[in-house]
Amino acid sequence: MLTHDSYIILTKRSKKFYTCCVIMFDLVFILKAGHGEEVFGMNIYGSKELMEDVISRDMCIGCGACNYLCPYFRPYRGKVAMLFPCDIDKGRCWAYCPKAEVDLEELSKTLYGKAYKGDPLGSYEEIRISRAGPRMVTKGDFQAGGTVSSIISLALKKGYISSAVLTDRKGILPVPRIVTSPEEVLECSTSKYTAAPTLAAFNQAVKDGYRNIGVVGTPCQVLAVAQMRSNPMEDNDFEDPTGLVLGLFCTWALDYRAFERFITKRVDIERIKKVDIPPPPAEIMEVYSDDGAKMEIPLDEVRKLVPETCSYCTDMTSEFADISVGVLEGRPDMNTLIVRTKRGKAIVDEAVREGFLVVEDMPEENLEHLRWAAGNKKQRALRKLQEAGLVNTSNGKRSILRLSPKTLKGIIA
Ligand SMILES: Cc1cc2nc3c(=O)[nH]c(=O)nc-3n(C[C@H](O)[C@H](O)[C@H](O)COP(=O)(O)OP(=O)(O)OC[C@H]3O[C@@H](n4cnc5c(N)ncnc54)[C@H](O)[C@@H]3O)c2cc1C
Ligand code: SF4
Ligand code: SF4
Repeated sequence: MLTHDSYIILTKRSKKFYTCCVIMFDLVFILKAGHGEEVFGMNIYGSKELMEDVISRDMCIGCGACNYLCPYFRPYRGKVAMLFPCDIDKGRCWAYCPKAEVDLEELSKTLYGKAYKGDPLGSYEEIRISRAGPRMVTKGDFQAGGTVSSIISLALKKGYISSAVLTDRKGILPVPRIVTSPEEVLECSTSKYTAAPTLAAFNQAVKDGYRNIGVVGTPCQVLAVAQMRSNPMEDNDFEDPTGLVLGLFCTWALDYRAFERFITKRVDIERIKKVDIPPPPAEIMEVYSDDGAKMEIPLDEVRKLVPETCSYCTDMTSEFADISVGVLEGRPDMNTLIVRTKRGKAIVDEAVREGFLVVEDMPEENLEHLRWAAGNKKQRALRKLQEAGLVNTSNGKRSILRLSPKTLKGIIA
């Protein structure tokens, strides 16, 4: 039998062997059968079921939550590679995955102490608009207003968080990164519109002994972090590893490999400085090169590169984050800012006091439109999940999502 130690020696000794394992990943799914167990009303299974339900069915978004928990799952160019089979019945890989038996009721009760009502924007304390303040504004190349980089910089500077898990890039490949200084935060600014294995770095940060970790992620990543925070494995010595969860808005992300094939035919990827998708009605993707050139690509062409799993995603605004940030329609220099929790509010208030952030009231028409767009995404995805038999299933059939039947009915009616 291959132990963890012998595995590490093998992979260290032979890069060729490692590469072979990755290539074989698509072919080898020989796993022993495991039995799921009921924990706190949440069904926990193992890597066999993760392969069957999520990875083999193309439901995986490559968030990284199942990576680096054990020697077996690794991120590899936008996909998850399983290097060896594992016979554990209940695994963290399953328990953290945002595409496997996610119980919105349980999460809402654990994190917010209240039932999940299906509000389009989730639970929140206040919604404002914001941008980087005078102590940030001249230093960064931000996606929009720079709210994310400003809040993370302040949180690091004031010790609210020990480190932050962000997403940098190499060419167009999104690269997860653990940072500990405001200077490094700025190196990771701007959106990478491909799905990223950010949470692989989160798991690594926990392993490295970091506590009070800040993490910035898309709604699926934030959902995975919420599952980690709910202690699904009932560890006696459990401590919430996060100090701040900052969620981005997201309607979809691109499949890395598909986008790489698409964009290399059009532009030198080494020279890409920034990619932007301006809010509707623009309907274009803008690709900026380091020589100042801008290429516009119709969004219709780009949407073909979105993985199917995004159409089953119900959350547009990272509902289980402390703070959520998106682009403000009609104002590319500003962000929409949703403050959801007390620790989120404390950090935002201090960022404003210290000149890291400027906030204003949210215009009513923007709020209305945001609510409509988020509600629309939720309704569309839930209808699709129901048609596919992947929500609130019974008789031992596994679901992607669970919520109260009454709430489900209210949303899709
Ligand atoms: C895939 C994707 C889809 C999005 N879709 C929408 C949308 O539909 N509507 C909307 O309003 N906003 C969307 N956003 C959010 C928006 O692009 C900005 O990230 C947000 O408004 C914050 O802007 P900022 O100027 O504060 O960011 P910055 O200060 O520039 O910081 C950006 C942060 O995003 C993180 N990041 C970058 N790429 C990724 C990634 N792939 N995965 C996880 N984290 C990442 C970086 O770590 C960085 O800290 C999307 C973002 C992504 C990554
Ligand atoms: S945890 Fe994330 S990376 Fe792993 S299988 Fe689930 S969606 Fe894919
Ligand atoms: S649409 Fe959902 S699943 Fe797809 S990248 Fe965005 S948050 Fe993740």
